[in-house]
Amino acid sequence: MKALKQIREKLEELSLEGGIFFKPENRYYVSGFTGSTGYALVLKDKAYFITDFRYISQVKEECPDFEILEISTSKTLGDVLEELNLNSLGFEDDFMTVEGLQTLKKSYSGQLVAMKRFIENIRQIKREDEILLMKKAQSIADETFSYMLDFIKPGMSEREVYLELVTQLTQRGAQGESFKAIVASGVRGALPHGSATEKIIEKGDLLTLDFGCVYQGYCSDMTRTICVGKASEKQKEIYHVVLKAQKEALKAIKPGAICKDIDKVARDIITEAGYGENFGHGLGHAVGLEVHENPRLNMVDESILKAGMVVTDEPGIYIPGFGGVRIEDIILVTETGSEILSTSNKELIELEV
Ligand code: ZN
Ligand code: ZN
Repeated sequence: MKALKQIREKLEELSLEGGIFFKPENRYYVSGFTGSTGYALVLKDKAYFITDFRYISQVKEECPDFEILEISTSKTLGDVLEELNLNSLGFEDDFMTVEGLQTLKKSYSGQLVAMKRFIENIRQIKREDEILLMKKAQSIADETFSYMLDFIKPGMSEREVYLELVTQLTQRGAQGESFKAIVASGVRGALPHGSATEKIIEKGDLLTLDFGCVYQGYCSDMTRTICVGKASEKQKEIYHVVLKAQKEALKAIKPGAICKDIDKVARDIITEAGYGENFGHGLGHAVGLEVHENPRLNMVDESILKAGMVVTDEPGIYIPGFGGVRIEDIILVTETGSEILSTSNKELIELEV
């Protein structure tokens, strides 16, 4: 697989004989395996895939660079590792359970070393082929949004809109949602993470749709807030503050920029407009095989953006008893600046109803 060289360099740096990966996103990244059970073991000059009989033929197909080692009820992962005579092995300390580690130690006598999210760190910089898949995932979401603008009518429930959204994403080729979509209308828009309810969408409601899909393992993520009918002055005012914050932060996204500085660009605009208290979350996050990855664009993350990272820019204003607005784009950091992957219109859309 494409990542093996980088992983081996990192193992060398940590003086480890090998690393074992079984967090699903990492395992897929390392080996290409899409099944649910198995361990990718990367050594200096060999790679093994350890799994049980159910997945043998799938591994043969999906992981041609990996030699298969079979485990069963009578032969554990620890037994297999012990037979390989490995003195030191890295494991995913942020994913393995205490119980899993204890079981492993019962039969494996070598040293076990925490890898501290090292694959996640490699994953921060997307390769060209990964970027293409993310673009595809986002284009499915953009097409779906455009369809939804014709579909949404006052009198529908948020749940009806949610179900149609998921159907449309799937019909356009998505494996599924990258997270449970947020459909929040009217006063419910004040909940940044309001999932769809039976609430009826009424004429004059602001409606926030925050959704994404998965395409060949890769996630998309976008938010648009629209008005179902003509927007009031107050709704327009809030929308334009969020839009200005979103656009200015967008200009700050480029290689070399510090994450927390980008958050500050948006936060300052919202605060100056008098809504600082109503923007209670970070500006954005990286996206990839997982919908929420590092780095984070928030008030504390001092990571430096690099070409190949994909991040979101999603400021919002939430007013209890009134409603809310969030606008989110997904952006690729390029060598010279940035490229917005989400193409949907983000000027205020007032549906004709
Ligand atoms: Zn989102
Ligand atoms: Zn997001």
